[in-house]
Amino acid sequence: MKQQPRLPRLVATIFAAVFILSALSSANAQSRQSAPDYVLINGRVFTADAAHPHAQALAIKGERIVAVGSSEEISRLKSPSSLVIDLGGRVVIPGINDAHYHFLPRPIAYQLALKEQEPNWDEVKAQIKLAVANTPPGTLINGVVGLNMFDEPEANRATLDKLAPNHPVQLACYWGHCSIFNSLFLRKVGIADKEPDPPGGSYPRDANGRIIGRSIEYANFRLHAKLQELAPEEVQLQDAKQMLNEATHFGVTTIQVMAIGSRDQTAAIMRKAESPIRIRVMDFSVSAPDHPLPPLRVQDSQNVYISGLKWVLDGEPVLRTAALRQHYADGLKESGHTNFTEAQMEVMLRESLRQKQQLLVHVVGDRTIEQFLKAMMATGGPAVWSQRRVRLEHGEGLLPDLVQQAKDLGVIVVQNPTDFALGDLFITRYGKERAAINQPFGSLLKTGIPLAIGSDGQTSTPDLPTDDAFRADTVINPYLNIMLATHDPFRPEESITREQAVIAYTLTSAYAEFAEKDKGSLEPGKLADLAVLSQDIFEVPATDLPKTESVLTMVGGKIVYNHVSK
Ligand SMILES: [Zn+2]
Repeated sequence: MKQQPRLPRLVATIFAAVFILSALSSANAQSRQSAPDYVLINGRVFTADAAHPHAQALAIKGERIVAVGSSEEISRLKSPSSLVIDLGGRVVIPGINDAHYHFLPRPIAYQLALKEQEPNWDEVKAQIKLAVANTPPGTLINGVVGLNMFDEPEANRATLDKLAPNHPVQLACYWGHCSIFNSLFLRKVGIADKEPDPPGGSYPRDANGRIIGRSIEYANFRLHAKLQELAPEEVQLQDAKQMLNEATHFGVTTIQVMAIGSRDQTAAIMRKAESPIRIRVMDFSVSAPDHPLPPLRVQDSQNVYISGLKWVLDGEPVLRTAALRQHYADGLKESGHTNFTEAQMEVMLRESLRQKQQLLVHVVGDRTIEQFLKAMMATGGPAVWSQRRVRLEHGEGLLPDLVQQAKDLGVIVVQNPTDFALGDLFITRYGKERAAINQPFGSLLKTGIPLAIGSDGQTSTPDLPTDDAFRADTVINPYLNIMLATHDPFRPEESITREQAVIAYTLTSAYAEFAEKDKGSLEPGKLADLAVLSQDIFEVPATDLPKTESVLTMVGGKIVYNHVSK
């Protein structure tokens, strides 16, 4: 990110077209001390503060908000040294806090130009042949594929070895829990055939114990971690900067990043990128829960801090790896599986207590959630857990019979509304009846379970077609998520209001990282993290929501994005 130019010049430049800058003369040293640095007036401010949700103006001094109110009230606070920003009726919201994001630096690779979400095998083979012909031996060939590929028995190591004997090849599934690869890829990431399956994951093998060229769950996360280790620092830095640029562009002022592999490496990259926004790096370990890591050193530095322990307790419905209490409806007599035993879940819970760290668990299937709640009961129940804000990431199997116990245990649900677009797949997998109660959202709010939102975006995914609703889940765009949260295409009755969605994405996301006293709403005393938006997200037609951008993003009273600086 560029260093901030001196403020008066910056403001004059950026607001020339849209905002009116009123510079006031006659200075008074005394009032300069206590006067606000910024006075924002004539806006439509949505504060996310339930007691005073709407205002017109706010005043900022240093990194904090000092007053919120009507334009008239706030104007009275200005002094000659204050910079006055006339918002011209624009909507202001607290900065978005993306509670669930994956930073996965791109491997140096030739990316297959696969246009579809579900490319067919012939197309993939043709693209691999093209890549082999056009890149030097040893170049990693990488593609993002769909379920078709995992249903295709020929899509395995032996076939890929024939197609690309001198190139490592990895075909990663778009939902992040599996890959298909060849022998050279295995060698590149340093995995031998005799290496046992890691806890929580598997490399399917043939009768002789040879890995057939696929990885599931933690076996796949391990590959991601290895690839990150192999990514040169300048590539990681470039990816971090791109992520941070996109964030400020959308008015995202905090990202809670799942750091697969090395949390310290991820935090170091964010610091090196001079993150202008706040970054929470969460541990996403790929070792066994029974071999706990050394306690997390919580390091605060500028905008980057490390906290929290994340585990993935089951898979997802695409490959039918989420653990259900019934069979999947599409006739395969499968009910998925949890990645860890209940005893291991108890280890995770105890370890989070020992390390005094928040626990976050990816849980999708209702069987997994039932088991995890049982593990919470076995490790102390509500007396121990009700104030510790254990997070269920996704939590789509939090079915009505499990809700009360989850509430008593004080869990938070962090949902990724882009998953709602997968609704037709849920019907296929779960059947109509079960799909009708799957993925509760608005109803959780009614029962009093805190509901936060994350994009589940990731950095590593190569350029994807933007007109594809599924592929859209790889971007950080909060307004796409707000559109889906407020217009759930498959369970409209679970939709929440736009105001509720903004609160989930700001104040409750802050609550989900124990930071709601400092940020998440626009109130006196809180950090001045905010976004001035390009359009009125409370009024525009739903389909226009994803087009929203920030025209001015502030983090701790500093302007980190403005509409002409791009
Ligand atoms: Zn995720």
